[in-house]
Amino acid sequence: MKNRYRKRLGPWIDILLIGSIIILASAIVFFTVIGNDFKFQKTSASQNEEHAEQQSSEITEAESKFPGIRIVTDISDDDTMPYAIQYPQTEYDAFNESLLQYITVSKDRYTTAMRLKKNAEKDETVSGELNISFETYPYKDHYYSFVLTQHMSTDTETYETSIKTFFFNNETGEILDIRTLLNQDLKSLETFSNHVRSQILDNTEFKGQLLKDTMLAKTEPKWRLFQRFAIQDESLVIYFDKGEITNPAVGVPTVIMPLSYINPLLAEQFQEQMVSADTIVSDKENQNGTKRVALTFDDGPDPKATKQILQLLEKYDAKATFFMLGNRVQYYPDIAKEVYDAGHEIGSHSWSHPMLTKLSSKQVLEEFNSTEKAIMQATGKPATVFRPPYGATNQRVNGLIPIPVVNWSIDTLDWKHRDAKKLLPSVKNNMHNNAIILMHDIHISTADGLEPVLQYLQNEGYQFVTVSEILPYR
Ligand code: ZN
Repeated sequence: MKNRYRKRLGPWIDILLIGSIIILASAIVFFTVIGNDFKFQKTSASQNEEHAEQQSSEITEAESKFPGIRIVTDISDDDTMPYAIQYPQTEYDAFNESLLQYITVSKDRYTTAMRLKKNAEKDETVSGELNISFETYPYKDHYYSFVLTQHMSTDTETYETSIKTFFFNNETGEILDIRTLLNQDLKSLETFSNHVRSQILDNTEFKGQLLKDTMLAKTEPKWRLFQRFAIQDESLVIYFDKGEITNPAVGVPTVIMPLSYINPLLAEQFQEQMVSADTIVSDKENQNGTKRVALTFDDGPDPKATKQILQLLEKYDAKATFFMLGNRVQYYPDIAKEVYDAGHEIGSHSWSHPMLTKLSSKQVLEEFNSTEKAIMQATGKPATVFRPPYGATNQRVNGLIPIPVVNWSIDTLDWKHRDAKKLLPSVKNNMHNNAIILMHDIHISTADGLEPVLQYLQNEGYQFVTVSEILPYR
């Protein structure tokens, strides 16, 4: 009976089974596709967020001194693997990607070298450093030369210095090489190579320091040998790495060729010159307070984070101190001026964020003086306090800096957690009178987390004062 029943229903069961399998399968396919789509959207959104946070500056917020160009600052205060990297970004993806590729490769090379070293030495205190900074030279309205200088060390003494340049057309987004500059002409290249050689041989700075055979090999008339160049002050500057054609003592050897001198060799669009420069100067006085905390913001100014912080400080009638990087002041002089005009103290944090204890005295002074000049140009007044990058200083460095050298008493670690919610606890848990609190105004998370900090300190009866004002009480 059972058997017969089953037999009669057999085909129906099969159809039902096949039917449900088809429905189930399509459901799985459907939800997988939707799911993937959803996941994809989610990751790309969070990637964008991360991207925006890392760059922490947007063209829409404020125009830099160099139209269409932003400066990105990426600093890690990590004790065992510190780095400070600054690089330009433009409105063109292709350019941004080639630049980022260079940065990524450099960073990887550094972290790999440091890991190997650490494993080999089994030593927590192994301290290297990677520093990438750059100079910007505008030319003829829409061309830019970027010169990136990379210092890398895996120990506490020696630096390896190398140069990378980009010559960029800000109207088309193209990266141009020496071939374009010399109009693809091999004859021009030969003449050019001869010019470079005679400039090097005549240069008194290279006397007795020249590695002649290597120099001749490195200046042969081959396109690939002249990839590092910039146009600045109406000259074409050719770069070599430290130790490449001279003894390392010379530093980074450069050949400076006035454009007028090589004018006939150049492609037509590069044949005349144009320079532009302007400065904005202003004046204003600082203000005062009594029961004290000094808020400090390092590594800026930044068109987005600094502006947001300024608004909050104004809301709480709070004065703070901004330890600015010369390189960023050069890019955002208007933001530096806004900070100054709002009555905050302007501190110097060096030009490119190197570990000063590793530099020669001459280099320390260069870092300090170039930043002073940028701050002077932007605000009309020099910096009144100095904070060494990574807090790294010694008697020699302190002796070279003519203004008070000041570190901090509370580190919020905002550069590390980049989490707005963690800012208040890090202050609350360490708060004491006359505290100097370290934060960074290049992270939007710091700006986002600042209001609860201001509220808390105000409720606790603290007056917000500048570093110079708090120093007598410490
Ligand atoms: Zn810093």
